[in-house]
Amino acid sequence: MTTKNNYSLSSWKAQFLDPKTESSYRHETVQTARYYHTYAFILVALYFFLYSTFDFFTLNINNISLPLFAIESSLIFLGLIFSVVSRYNPIFISSGWPITLIEILGFISFFFSLLLHSGRWIPPSEINFIFMVISVYLFLPNLFSLTVLTAIPASLIFAIITLGYSRLSFPNLFMIGLPLLSINLLGALSARTKNIQKRNDWANLVSQKKVHTQLLQEISIRRQLEERLRQIARLDALSGLNNRNAFLDFANMEFQRARRYADPLSLMILDVDFFKRINDNYGHATGDEVIKKIGQLLSHAIRNIDIAGRLGGEEFVILLPHAPIEAAYEVAERLRLAFRDLHIETHKGPLFLTVSIGIAQCLQKDIGIEATLSRADKALYLAKESGRNQAIAASTDEAE
Ligand code: GH3
Ligand code: MG
Ligand code: MG
Repeated sequence: MTTKNNYSLSSWKAQFLDPKTESSYRHETVQTARYYHTYAFILVALYFFLYSTFDFFTLNINNISLPLFAIESSLIFLGLIFSVVSRYNPIFISSGWPITLIEILGFISFFFSLLLHSGRWIPPSEINFIFMVISVYLFLPNLFSLTVLTAIPASLIFAIITLGYSRLSFPNLFMIGLPLLSINLLGALSARTKNIQKRNDWANLVSQKKVHTQLLQEISIRRQLEERLRQIARLDALSGLNNRNAFLDFANMEFQRARRYADPLSLMILDVDFFKRINDNYGHATGDEVIKKIGQLLSHAIRNIDIAGRLGGEEFVILLPHAPIEAAYEVAERLRLAFRDLHIETHKGPLFLTVSIGIAQCLQKDIGIEATLSRADKALYLAKESGRNQAIAASTDEAE
């Protein structure tokens, strides 16, 4: 036994000590083993078909030989049945019992046939038996313990039968015992090594897969974090809207798109009237609260395709793709009234505010979005000058 982890192997059984690990090993490797099993079972059926044909022509058919033919027929039948079963229920085959059943019946039929042929003892029987033992160890992959439990008793029975035919003497014992012992040792060692190696390979693969999955998860978490950081870097912390840079990026893209498709594009700048007084009367913290509220109101009031941002201070901006100035003006009026009707609870009682809005549409003469912003700013200045709490649209005359 090696160290106690999930992948520890039992030296004697050549399988995982942990039954759960052993079970998942079998489940996961069974898919690759099933094609091998299918062909192995077909070959088993073919082998016993040839063997029974030989027996059929060399033995008398009577009450004693009939059971032998029954066993041989059932071996052919089982071989064919299991070759089909291994395709559709490979887990059943990997339990080891179907292969063990075939092996035990195979040895029984071999010994039976040997005894019935007793009158005509033929030397190749030893070769045949050794071939069967090698097949059990190497050709029919099975659990190591079941393999040994089948091959060793069969070898002992074969040794006893063979000695029964010859005189019991030391040279005979040596001549029969040595090859049987060697073949069992060789077979057991190979089968054990193969079982252990396959499990070690599988354990390594599983560990590597785990590390790989962990790495992938880590990469994914890092990507999400980076994305979040990128988003944060582009958001204004107080209002939750786009910050100036992010807004200008979006606005520039929309400007190009509107130009390419000759699509109307408008924007408005919105400034809180006498915001300084709010700060002075209610305190800076309340001023911050107001900016937060304005951010919430704006993000709820606009369409999905509109882009809102905070330019700085208490100055906000909204970009309206596909909107000519008339539509933008309607939105501005709606917003102006929404702000007029808004009251914010403070420690000094309800707070009311109004906003002034300057609106402009992108024109052919505009080189970039800054030109449109500048016209909206002038319209805003005009709105302030004309008494505040109003929306004013800049002229759309290309000649001005
Ligand atoms: P007007 O109607 O002409 O726009 O008057 P106003 O008082 O709103 O204009 P002004 O630009 O003179 O004042 C804006 C004030 O907004 C000044 C500044 O203290 C305040 N302010 C700017 N950013 C913030 C902020 O993040 N939080 C708070 N609480 N106040 C801010
Ligand atoms: Mg202001
Ligand atoms: Mg201002």
